[in-house]
Amino acid sequence: MSKITEIAYSTVTNTCPRCHRGKVFETNNSYHLKNGLIMKLNCTECSLKYEKEPGFFQGAMYVSYSLQVALFVTLFTFNTLLWQLNPTVIVSIIIALIIGLFPITYRWSRIVWMNFFMAYEKEYDVDKMDIKQEKI
Ligand SMILES: [Zn+2]
Repeated sequence: MSKITEIAYSTVTNTCPRCHRGKVFETNNSYHLKNGLIMKLNCTECSLKYEKEPGFFQGAMYVSYSLQVALFVTLFTFNTLLWQLNPTVIVSIIIALIIGLFPITYRWSRIVWMNFFMAYEKEYDVDKMDIKQEKI
């Protein structure tokens, strides 16, 4: 698995960057009102501490910004080439999407940021090791 697919897998499945087994957030539902945005302190499977140092997740703001700019540029390009809506309408739609997708952007940016500093290690992924040993 390449680094990009490891990051994508960890991000989309809400799993620990190191073992891909433990959950990073309390629930898989980003829009869960009570604890959709609450992160666990450590991985339940490999005990990885998610916040490496105080203020570690401030860097996730850059990832969040990048995701939102990518959404903006993509939709604006589609509008320019295909839909050709009034600029006020398309900017309103984009702003509504950015606000509406905030829970997903928040979670994905934190998990992507963690993946920049914590690599996937197969020895922590017990399930995949068992499959590998059976094949041998
Ligand atoms: Zn883990």
